[in-house]
Amino acid sequence: MLKLNDPALLETRAYVNGHWIENGNSFPVFNPATGEKIADVTDLGVEDVTLAIDGAYDAKAAWAAKTGKERGTILRKWHDLMVGNIDDLATILTAEMGKPLAEAKGEIMYGASYVEWFAEEAKRIYGDVIPGHQPDKRIVVLKQPVGVVGSITPWNFPNAMIARKVAPALAVGCTFVARPAELTPLSALAMAVLGERAGIPKGVFSVIPSSDASTVGKELCANTKVAKITFTGSTRVGKILMEQGAATVKKVSMELGGNAPFIVFDDADVDAAVEGALIAKYRNAGQTCVCANRIYVQSGVYKEFSEKLAKRVSALSVGDGFEEGVAIGPLINEAALSKVEAHLSDAIAKGARIATGGNRHSRGGTFFEPTVVTDVTRGMQVQHEETFGPIAPLFEFETEDEAVELANDTEFGLAGYFYAKDISRVWRVAERLETGMVGINTGLISTEVAPFGGVKQSGQGREGSKYGADDYLEIKYMCFGEI
Ligand code: ADP
Repeated sequence: MLKLNDPALLETRAYVNGHWIENGNSFPVFNPATGEKIADVTDLGVEDVTLAIDGAYDAKAAWAAKTGKERGTILRKWHDLMVGNIDDLATILTAEMGKPLAEAKGEIMYGASYVEWFAEEAKRIYGDVIPGHQPDKRIVVLKQPVGVVGSITPWNFPNAMIARKVAPALAVGCTFVARPAELTPLSALAMAVLGERAGIPKGVFSVIPSSDASTVGKELCANTKVAKITFTGSTRVGKILMEQGAATVKKVSMELGGNAPFIVFDDADVDAAVEGALIAKYRNAGQTCVCANRIYVQSGVYKEFSEKLAKRVSALSVGDGFEEGVAIGPLINEAALSKVEAHLSDAIAKGARIATGGNRHSRGGTFFEPTVVTDVTRGMQVQHEETFGPIAPLFEFETEDEAVELANDTEFGLAGYFYAKDISRVWRVAERLETGMVGINTGLISTEVAPFGGVKQSGQGREGSKYGADDYLEIKYMCFGEI
């Protein structure tokens, strides 16, 4: 049993249209560090999903009619409750997802920061006045909420991936039905408990746990009361949802897979680059969509960088996220572990060498040693696929053009990172990288004040920043005649 200050935050029922419901069906949630079952969570079928959508549809007019300040005040309370309950929320998160407790707390603060940001933005959904095209005409542009939003989110950030979506949606007057990942529904349900306490009205925010993602996805896409689908997850599933949503012309926001390049040029501060790589690669055990997947190092600093990185990585402590000082938790499941192993053995078979790590961790379970591999080359799987695990593959390159070409040689385009000092090079490379986000001399770029999102097959739309509200707004133009 989890030790919580407020045991009511460990909610296992679904939250549908302002009611906590059970239906006799459930699915288990496990702790990936221990394999122990944490809870059995209500498993909704399609009828209850429809009820949640109906509730959101019925609630939307009254919610949209509130002033931005009124909605913002509720969101602000929600933010304060998240921060006030950070220890419990982080405990639930680490238990169901595995990340170190300190990282879980960081995630709660990160998720809450979006709620705070959009609580503030709720008052600033400005329209426009456009000079008329004829003497008797006046043109006004209004921004209005799209309506009911259906969300599907992954397990790697059980709190923040929902917060990043629900905060802008509610701020601008949309209502929201969240289907959390089946591996991590408890963090989402805890958010709903706090949302209810914050005063989010009935129907405005529902959480619909279900073990059957595809049935829920189909209903959210097919139901004409849903105006928009917002999804974070794999490019494969994103494409399925876009196809399914096409039948009812759903608006979509898609935060999909990444395959982030991390480039270290000869003129970089190598020590800073090593620290940046540690964060960009090993955070969440490599299980984030902006994790550095491919590390390109220029020949002049390759040896120095690889030795320093391997030294730092070999000192990272692996363990249960609840243990003090742990930097790397377990991988989420056996499938994740198999993918890491497959990428590694493919690289080794094609000539790569292990500098540190390389094996399942002696703790067993889904723990894997943080690993650095050198002599990695283009033909290897790690060049083209997201590993989503704690492996840093180091490629060597000679010229700037070669680095940019290698970095862009992927269908993905979420984040890219590079370390360099020369200001002309910094501009050139930043402009040429085909990614939605670029970290220059930093390995950590996520913040609520900046637009998060990808290009190419990494998705569409942006989360956070002054741009983030746009994804949940329609533009209405009104033409006034006979003035
Ligand atoms: P990940 O590799 O992060 O698990 P997925 O795209 O497989 O990425 O999963 C992201 C979310 O999408 C999860 O909540 C998962 O349950 C859900 N999902 C998986 N398949 C489908 C589908 N066919 N329709 C809707 N949601 C799906």
